[in-house]
Amino acid sequence: MKVTLVGAGPGGVGLLTLRGLEVLQAADVVLYDRFVSDDILAVIPDSAEKIDVGKHAGRHPVPQDAINTLLLERAKEGKNVVRLKGGDPFVFARGGEELELLAENNIPFEVVPGVTSAVAAATYAGIPITHRDYASSFHVITAHAKNNEPIDIDFDALVKLDGTLVFLMGASVIDDICEKCLLAGMDKDIPAAVVENAAANNQRKFLGTVATLPQIAKANNVESPAVIIIGKVCRFATRYDWFDRKPLRGKRIVVVSIKYRTSKLSNALRELGCDVVEIPYLKIVPLIATNDTLTDKLKNIKDYSWLVFTSGVGVNIFFDYLKEALIDIRGLINVKIACVGMETEKEVNKRGIKVEYVPDEYNGAALGRGLSILVKNGERALIAGAKDGDRDLTDVLTETGVAFDDVPIYEKVRDDKTASAVINDFDFAAFTSPSAVKGFAEIFVSMDFGKIKAVCIGEKTASAARALGMEVYVSTEAAVGSMVEKIMELSA
Ligand code: SAH
Repeated sequence: MKVTLVGAGPGGVGLLTLRGLEVLQAADVVLYDRFVSDDILAVIPDSAEKIDVGKHAGRHPVPQDAINTLLLERAKEGKNVVRLKGGDPFVFARGGEELELLAENNIPFEVVPGVTSAVAAATYAGIPITHRDYASSFHVITAHAKNNEPIDIDFDALVKLDGTLVFLMGASVIDDICEKCLLAGMDKDIPAAVVENAAANNQRKFLGTVATLPQIAKANNVESPAVIIIGKVCRFATRYDWFDRKPLRGKRIVVVSIKYRTSKLSNALRELGCDVVEIPYLKIVPLIATNDTLTDKLKNIKDYSWLVFTSGVGVNIFFDYLKEALIDIRGLINVKIACVGMETEKEVNKRGIKVEYVPDEYNGAALGRGLSILVKNGERALIAGAKDGDRDLTDVLTETGVAFDDVPIYEKVRDDKTASAVINDFDFAAFTSPSAVKGFAEIFVSMDFGKIKAVCIGEKTASAARALGMEVYVSTEAAVGSMVEKIMELSA
């Protein structure tokens, strides 16, 4: 029984601390708020209860008292409770209030600090928050006033300090902040910056002076979450900019892929500064544990001569299940393994097992033809693949008279959450298979496909996209790296 307040940092999982990650991975219950990104939520085990207590500006879907009570109740149930908060849990985050009830009830707690947006926003804007020649202190101030009252801050004192001023929760009152700095005697030429969605790939940064920043922010519709930085150190924001200089900054790309497949493409694009929106159009649902016939077949795995995998996902579901159901892996000792392609083979290799056969061409028909020669009379093959998967393999095996059992160990189903996703204003959509194009079209039925610039991995994918009327670009090679090159070329 314990409650841990964890700071999630300003954005993605990269700025979560190692301790934060450790605590999240061991959580039974996680209460999180709206500044926590999807890739951080993805590290929480599926078995944990996830409660969204997100606070939207001005609205509090779950009132603070209710959050405090939830923390207490779940802890009293003996659970490992994590309260995940954007940035640092004690920086304008009511972390102190959340501990109060726990302290009263003698519930053990821990607090894991996080990278606060107050500092990260400056870093990602290329602004050294202190500098020996320009600022010997920085001051973090909340511009949020209770019930829309005017902000009550001693600007005279602040301006006199001559340090870097950092305002949080100030996006909607930026004019008020700057005006009060000027009234308190700040030089109108002092440089200033506003950083929206700091440290995320959709970050926007605008520079001006304390006199001009409000107009600039207004003209560009700067919205919360944003950090306002006022002080001489802002003069470096262009010279020391490292983030906006990435080659694909400002580009927004929709990557259509299967959920849980670590998308190499998204990662490569993010590394180049691109704002990636992932559309996981399908999700994988394991079927074995819920099906007795399958379980029986797997228990008799030693009766098969060949075990056939048609995807890396299948490999992982298969071996995870053996482990979970305590089916001894030595049952596979005389079973040969065939895989449809290199990626699938790699997953088998990771389990410390060699693969006997991979066809030269990575497709179901080629795998079938190969097996028709390898599987001898009197031998039987077990295909551990997807339900309603590609029929090419089983068709070839049937035609050539190979004895086999087709055992679907997982199913691909439409992801309902994605189905309600809204995407607009993107530069390209990237598709890595014809079924990704199909899935995309099913989800976004009413979209004007003619306006989409589609970057496709190969001819099959390209023709699926062309059939929908998209403007199609095909990567030179059927590889993720080549898609990235194509996107770079198109963005240049
Ligand atoms: N505990 C948080 C702050 C919570 S107050 C922290 O340490 O960062 C909420 C305010 O934080 C927002 O109004 C905004 O000013 C700022 N903020 C949080 N995340 C941000 C981000 N990624 N980019 C810009 N500002 C952010």
